[in-house]
Amino acid sequence: MTNPFETAIQQLEEASSIAKLDKNKVERLKSPDRYVEVSIPVIMDSGEQKIFKGFRSQHNNARGAYKGGIRYHQDVNLDEVRALSFWMSFKNAVINVPFGGGKGGIIVNPKELSSNELEKLSRGWVQKMYRILGPEVDVPAPDVNTTGQIMDWMVDEYKKLTGNEKSLAVFTGKPVGKGGSQGREEATGYGGFYVFEEAVKNHQIPAGAKIALQGFGNVSTFFAKMAFEKGYKVVALSDSKGGIVNLEGLDVHKVLEHKKALGGLKDFPGSKNLTNEELLELEVEVLVPAALENVLTEKNAGRIKAKLIIELANGPTTKDADKIFAQNQVVVVPDILANSGGVCVSYYEWYQNMNNETWSKEQVLEKLEKQIKQAFADVLSTSKKYNTTYRNGAYILATERIMEKMG
Ligand code: NAD
Repeated sequence: MTNPFETAIQQLEEASSIAKLDKNKVERLKSPDRYVEVSIPVIMDSGEQKIFKGFRSQHNNARGAYKGGIRYHQDVNLDEVRALSFWMSFKNAVINVPFGGGKGGIIVNPKELSSNELEKLSRGWVQKMYRILGPEVDVPAPDVNTTGQIMDWMVDEYKKLTGNEKSLAVFTGKPVGKGGSQGREEATGYGGFYVFEEAVKNHQIPAGAKIALQGFGNVSTFFAKMAFEKGYKVVALSDSKGGIVNLEGLDVHKVLEHKKALGGLKDFPGSKNLTNEELLELEVEVLVPAALENVLTEKNAGRIKAKLIIELANGPTTKDADKIFAQNQVVVVPDILANSGGVCVSYYEWYQNMNNETWSKEQVLEKLEKQIKQAFADVLSTSKKYNTTYRNGAYILATERIMEKMG
């Protein structure tokens, strides 16, 4: 499998060769400023001690505090954390929030831990890391398998250790009522939809176009609901067990009720069941991968019928697939733009905490729509200027913005 950090470096190199960016600064951006590996001892409920490995990678802070999630997964490793911290620097620059890039993780399958063990482990990560964190230094957030509750424990531990008055702002993704922001739940899906609306204007996608979505979790549900309400035909949806299709359009609210009642999408009345692989190749105008990475590869890219792909998932398209899409004139709106709504609202959370403000959901979503549409316009004009793809345009724009502040 491709090393994710090498992929990240290749993306930077491609963008910098197109835009002829400063070579010395590009070299500096190839490695994180700092990465840390720590051992976290936890006394388990059985009375036995277990040692867990934790990481934090701080890629670049030229534009502001390092910012990015903490992932709990058995496959977490330093290369992955470094690559993810790198992507965060670029995502934060594209959406134009005043943050750099960071990422962290712990090698653990959290499903094997009791709530008590999970709390000790999360507090243990902060005990080992707090000296390199801070509201104006490094601001972590949830990622795969980490939750608002975990952020709440982490804030509490950080506050105990530092007595910092601004402690609430050191982690984002907190529960609403515990310093979290309204609108965070909807942010990535709705943000993706706002980006989609801008892409539609620029690529002659017909009103009521057919959309297939892979995934029916947090991000895709909010995207699907809004698309349905705005009159697009959401024709296919899926989860890890498979998907459903009706080329005449699905009623997204009814699919949600069906999933709630039966625990899956299968056998939704009026639809046909299909596999996740078949879903990607449907006869639709728009494809939205919103579940996993590396689902669009050189094996299936030539069979994709959609004319527009909105990457809500992180890294759904391999480099080889990207080349095929460019040849076939399939427009790909890259993840670092399409799913940046989440980190945009994380910035709003941080801002509210720092300034003792509380914004309504309407205020948050209104600001998000404006900011992400501006990001789309900036990426579009950069892509046009260099006559290149949206992905390269987004990387060039981000790299230029970071370099401007690097000194
Ligand atoms: P989620 O866990 O809520 O939903 C994931 C969905 O993918 C579920 O419907 C699940 O059933 C489905 N899925 C799992 N395995 C699958 C498989 N093998 N085939 C097809 N579908 C499968 O997660 P989410 O928060 O919606 O995140 C989805 C994607 O968006 C991820 O790539 C994530 O990194 C990215 N993302 C999320 C956010 C956010 O704010 N939540 C922000 C940026 C990027």
